[in-house]
Amino acid sequence: MTGKTRKRLVLWDIDRTLIESRGVGRMVYERVFPEVVGKPLREMPLVHGRTELDIMYEALRSHDVEPTEHLFRRLSAALAEGFRAVADELAERGRVLPGVRNALAGLAAEPTMHQGVLTGNTAEVARIKLEAFGLDRHLDLSTSAFGDDHRERPELVTIARERAARRFRTPIPVEHVVLIGDTPADVHAALSTGARVIAVATGVYSVDELLAAGASSVLETLTPSRFRRALESVFSE
Ligand SMILES: [Mg+2]
Repeated sequence: MTGKTRKRLVLWDIDRTLIESRGVGRMVYERVFPEVVGKPLREMPLVHGRTELDIMYEALRSHDVEPTEHLFRRLSAALAEGFRAVADELAERGRVLPGVRNALAGLAAEPTMHQGVLTGNTAEVARIKLEAFGLDRHLDLSTSAFGDDHRERPELVTIARERAARRFRTPIPVEHVVLIGDTPADVHAALSTGARVIAVATGVYSVDELLAAGASSVLETLTPSRFRRALESVFSE
């Protein structure tokens, strides 16, 4: 049987790849940060493509607070609680990006494809966001990696592969992994580890910017037929 070894791991970024939360994330941050840190959030670091640990680190530093494990843990817990409290509002104000539901459902029907996420969100916030939009059923969070697993996004590729290898009891070659994301950071995480990447220009970065970051496959939106072709093409590289 070679079926197992041919398993492809498809790892989706969440924000601006699967969904848009349209300001809800920032609202939660503005509520939670002063509660935990004791200072108002004067400025928010750039968040696109970054892990939550990295965002927290910079947010704390820029407010003259020493980043500690303890603060990271408290901020993570408060963020999860904050997102849980606004899950209904998130579902109402935010949206699933065009093509996403079809793309996820289409791949879910294929036994050689296994879908998870590779996201800068913490595991708990990722779960809350995906559940709010009903996207969790096609995504295996036990073969995924999150922004509270490691500060550096490329490290998340290894973490997700290790989790998938444990789950399937067989190693997952890195060239059998594809990341789908909307930022140069997603592209870099893939290229620096040997994973494949499909970039989608549904965030703040244009097709040209994503090509310039090194992605060989960039889609303007997640049109299911184009996505399928892109997937075939990255795995035949
Ligand atoms: Mg994103």
